[in-house]
Amino acid sequence: MPEDRPKISKNSPDDAARAGKDAAQDSSTAGGEVWVVVEQVAGEAAPVSWELMGEARALAEALGVRAAAVILGAGAPELARQAFSYGAAAAYTGSDPALEPFITDPHCQALVDLARAHQPQIILLGATTRGRDLASAAATELETGLTADCTHLEIDEAKGLLKQTRPAFGGNVMATIITPNHRPQIATVRPGVFPLPEAAAEAGGEIIESRPAITAAAAAVRQLQFLPNPGEESLMGAHVIVAGGRGMRSAHNFALLEKLATELGGTVAASRAAVDAGWISQRRQVGQTGQTVRPLLYIAVGISGAVQHLAGIQESDVIVAINSDPDAPIFDVADYGIVGDLFEIVPALIEEAHARLSGAAGSDAAGERQIGVEST
Ligand SMILES: Cc1cc2nc3c(=O)[nH]c(=O)nc-3n(C[C@H](O)[C@H](O)[C@H](O)COP(=O)(O)OP(=O)(O)OC[C@H]3O[C@@H](n4cnc5c(N)ncnc54)[C@H](O)[C@@H]3O)c2cc1C
Repeated sequence: MPEDRPKISKNSPDDAARAGKDAAQDSSTAGGEVWVVVEQVAGEAAPVSWELMGEARALAEALGVRAAAVILGAGAPELARQAFSYGAAAAYTGSDPALEPFITDPHCQALVDLARAHQPQIILLGATTRGRDLASAAATELETGLTADCTHLEIDEAKGLLKQTRPAFGGNVMATIITPNHRPQIATVRPGVFPLPEAAAEAGGEIIESRPAITAAAAAVRQLQFLPNPGEESLMGAHVIVAGGRGMRSAHNFALLEKLATELGGTVAASRAAVDAGWISQRRQVGQTGQTVRPLLYIAVGISGAVQHLAGIQESDVIVAINSDPDAPIFDVADYGIVGDLFEIVPALIEEAHARLSGAAGSDAAGERQIGVEST
């Protein structure tokens, strides 16, 4: 980074209006920046924002333009500093009481005004509940294209267009989508798809402050109460994931996986078949319509390896598959495969892990570690 102190410039609310709606819709905005909308709660950024910042920086370099962060609501100076450390050369901040807490309409208005004023050529958002909501609302206002849930982004060097790749037709094909005629090109990417870049310690950049003119209509919705969902941890930070599929046969049998995960210091996840059967919460689903994970170790137990499941696990360092069917597609991506009955193999793994990791081989009562298995 060339600078170590932020430069601050200010935009009046009228700047956006002056720039006019047509400018943002002009497909000839060559040279526009690559933006990442930073998702934050009370000044704490969602990691996906920084994952996207690393990607935005690479895209911006390929285009010869700046990567920039958009920070709406609380926490601007600190979040701008973090954005610089993850690769942003500039940060557009917007402050208004209507922007805190997050509500789609005022955020959409602030983002759209900034886009009209500064004409980025690309805007990236996390494919989270908020990001999906904001991206689609902003794309509608800006009358431009949006590609949701991208798994790969790349610049077409000949045309300077963003190639946005995502699963299509139920995940059976990968489609590469371009937005040739409208700007900005907007894409969402799910958490975990891109790695978190290393933060540079002494990075600086330009802060462009603005006061969005939020209209009464956009500020009409108020949040009365926020009730967090207790006990639902994200799979994102897990180093070890033990995931079960239809082969587990029942919710009760997931206790086996809990036990193995506990021995390995990991957490339990599932295929969609197990979620659909009601054996485990949807928040634990891995795959195209669940979470993308990147643990050091992913153990797939009784999971066939459908393409939609594989979409969520391919960034795992090591994949171990346990399946009774030697032809199960999961073995095509597994680093280690165990063909056999999971109800024999998993208890054996629990024993072995317990013996090795506790150093207590054969010393404790086997009965304490026995887990019942239920057949359906
Ligand atoms: C649009 C769309 C999105 C989707 N999104 C997702 C997603 O996000 N995540 C996801 O997982 N799926 C998703 N799916 C569903 C996906 O296509 C598969 O249906 C699902 O992944 C299958 O789950 P499974 O592997 O647990 O079940 P199955 O395919 O039924 O496999 C069960 C496996 O268990 C093995 N088995 C059975 N008994 C034993 C035993 N005793 N010991 C060892 N092995 C045993 C079997 O050999 C089999 O391979 C999606 C589908 C669509 C159309």
